[in-house]
Amino acid sequence: MLLANGWLLLLLVLLMIPTCRIEMLFLGALAVVLAGAGLLDNRLRRAALAGIALGIGVIAFALLVSGCGGQPRRYLMSYDVAVDPSFTVAQQTVIVEAVDAWRTAEPALTLRLTVGPCPGITTFCVAPETVSTGELGHSYDPGDDRGCVSKIAVDEIAKFASVWTAPGDPDALLRQTVEHELGHCMMGSEHLGSGALMCATPDCASMTLTVADLAHFAEVR
Ligand SMILES: [Zn+2]
Repeated sequence: MLLANGWLLLLLVLLMIPTCRIEMLFLGALAVVLAGAGLLDNRLRRAALAGIALGIGVIAFALLVSGCGGQPRRYLMSYDVAVDPSFTVAQQTVIVEAVDAWRTAEPALTLRLTVGPCPGITTFCVAPETVSTGELGHSYDPGDDRGCVSKIAVDEIAKFASVWTAPGDPDALLRQTVEHELGHCMMGSEHLGSGALMCATPDCASMTLTVADLAHFAEVR
């Protein structure tokens, strides 16, 4: 029974290695508990010890593999940022300003900017939103830590600039939105309180990065 648990566990671990999820830690702990229960029975002692060793091995492996130990792999200090060529040149200029704002505020952070498609891991795609979602922008992980996509609703931004900024500055709202969405890519979906750039809506969000945002950036790493 215990051995069967061990093989099943090994199979699950092999399946999960590519994504390296926190679940691996739970599986390891489960193996230790199951094997520990086996120790109560003398006849199962050897299998139980093997199970404990396997469980501890799984936990150690989960902690060692890059990104495990609490944070997904996307919380890095170096990224490629690909800007979709379908933004206008004027919009691209504002997006570069947003990227520069992050570079200036966080000198240890490397953001390599290109205009073009988004290949592979550690890449952020900044792309225009093509459907109306009622949001100025939103960011998501396309899966398996492959990176982060920030969809920027340029039409909504143009439409609502006068609501959110005075005296209606679409460039300022675009810059704030891109800066905020890059923040989600690097810090996760959490929002901060009023006065921070990472506050949920433009009326409570700062127009640029604040001490609270940078503290959160450090905290998630
Ligand atoms: Zn947000």
